[in-house]
Amino acid sequence: MNETGPTIHQCACDECKAGGNAAIVRYHQQVNLFLSRLNEPQRRWYVGVISQATDSPSDRQLSLITGLDEKTIQRGRHELAANLADAPAEKQRQAGGGRPRAEKKMPR
Ligand SMILES: [Zn+2]
Repeated sequence: MNETGPTIHQCACDECKAGGNAAIVRYHQQVNLFLSRLNEPQRRWYVGVISQATDSPSDRQLSLITGLDEKTIQRGRHELAANLADAPAEKQRQAGGGRPRAEKKMPR
């Protein structure tokens, strides 16, 4: 499907569709670029964080911007509120995530 790296979500918000505000378009592109490099829990936590900014768009808007479900964004927020208790910091691996760890081991 994509020849060059991970799929980056295209923002579907009205602002970007209209294309009138270059700063917003660029910001949303960068949010999606960043999200494309995160794993699944990290994506919802990041969007959970930005959803709580004082001038943050609504969850519905954020869903259009990031492609994440509104429910996923809410979940991220709840997990943050619970101090990410289900995802201990010392382990890079996320609870519930099925992906094997892509950790580099130094060859000796
Ligand atoms: Zn946008």
